[in-house]
Amino acid sequence: MDRKASLKTADPEIYAAIQNELKRRREGLELIPSENITSRAVLEALGSILTDKYSEGYPGKRYYGGNEFIDVIENLAIERAKKAFGVPYANVQPHSGSPANQAVYFALMKPGDVVMGLNLADGGHLTHGWKTNFSGTLYKSFPYHVKSDGYIDIDEVERLARENKPKLIWCSTTAYSRELPFAEMSRIADDAGAYLAADIAHIAGLVVGGAHKSPVPFAHIVTTTTHKTLRGPRGGMIMVTQKGIDKDPELPSKIDKAVIPGLQGGPHNHQTAAIAVALGEALQPEFRDYASQIVKNAKALSEALMAKGIRIVSGGTDNHLMLVDLTPFGIGKGVLVQDALDAAGITVNKNTVPSDPSSPFFPSGIRLGTPTVTTMGMKEPEMKLIAGFIAEVIEEVKGFEMPEKERAAFAEQFRKQIKENKKIRMIKQEVAKLSSGFELY
Ligand SMILES: *Cc1c(COP(=O)(O)O)cnc(C)c1O
Repeated sequence: MDRKASLKTADPEIYAAIQNELKRRREGLELIPSENITSRAVLEALGSILTDKYSEGYPGKRYYGGNEFIDVIENLAIERAKKAFGVPYANVQPHSGSPANQAVYFALMKPGDVVMGLNLADGGHLTHGWKTNFSGTLYKSFPYHVKSDGYIDIDEVERLARENKPKLIWCSTTAYSRELPFAEMSRIADDAGAYLAADIAHIAGLVVGGAHKSPVPFAHIVTTTTHKTLRGPRGGMIMVTQKGIDKDPELPSKIDKAVIPGLQGGPHNHQTAAIAVALGEALQPEFRDYASQIVKNAKALSEALMAKGIRIVSGGTDNHLMLVDLTPFGIGKGVLVQDALDAAGITVNKNTVPSDPSSPFFPSGIRLGTPTVTTMGMKEPEMKLIAGFIAEVIEEVKGFEMPEKERAAFAEQFRKQIKENKKIRMIKQEVAKLSSGFELY
């Protein structure tokens, strides 16, 4: 084995798959709201020699030698996180968003304690108490919901909190297009004596860039991923606010202990370095323009879709994403529209809509987001074009009805058929043309 060989010569199979993935992205439009495009500097740090080092512990307190420079890196990441979000404490070691949330539970809760989070089908995350996730099996979960207008049902949150005495309440979403009600949730959590955790995985970049209200004055704990609107490598962070320290001065050390030795071993130092780089980028003044353009683009996209008669849950968006409600075109059509858009080079994900008449696997909506196309440099005029493509694709799907039974087989057959659709093929070419006018990396 030649240790100095490039990937291309050392492993042509993996190299080819990476090149194909790059080509797929170059020719398409990425509208999955949880994705983004990292900078070259972030990728360089992520692909660095730091992956080789063991550093269990925290800066200045490691179980391994040789961590002088790793400490510099982790301290920079921590300082930048504190500055970017305006918090007194940050832990940058969670390997991703879900492990970060797991550490919050492990720090605060005993098995059987009560947690409240937004129901998965209403836009919550698995780790906020879903029945098949650890959070809904180890802890007693009382999920709250959105109202039929798409907004979080604050009255229900208040009632459930009064009845069930939660120890932890999450104010967090993964498919919610409106500003999060941090102030109302904080009043409810304080009345119940609960910890309020804001998991801002989706909107972290908007918060840092001033395009979404910050949870920091309201929550005790803030968790986030680093790879969504924040535009860093995959990763997670846990922060404690001043309010959190005032409630429980031990909170930072409880979180540190929950991450290691509680749940993880060695930190991913290459990831920590890349998070530090991304936070450095997010602290630049240009990042504010980026964050505000993401929201402008989402508003432009949702307005253009509505102008074409397509229903958007809650009638628009305050952030980077929107939910398209396809129920007027039939039940359970999310997967068909997702596959048809895929065939046209537009990547989205199927999603449930509030009070979805279908099932989570065959939901009646799709979720669209603008972080990636905004990173590419697209603005409002391109959003109008994209809305036009999406409307044309939906038009092609209208004639297909999702059956009651044998849905998987039907969807499989549909996928093959729609690829051959002439109109879809034409849209695919136009999508590739639009995409090629902008830079990915
Ligand atoms: C994406 C997301 C997570 C999980 O992040 P992973 O890195 O995929 O584990 C957690 N919470 C919310 C709200 C998310 O949107």
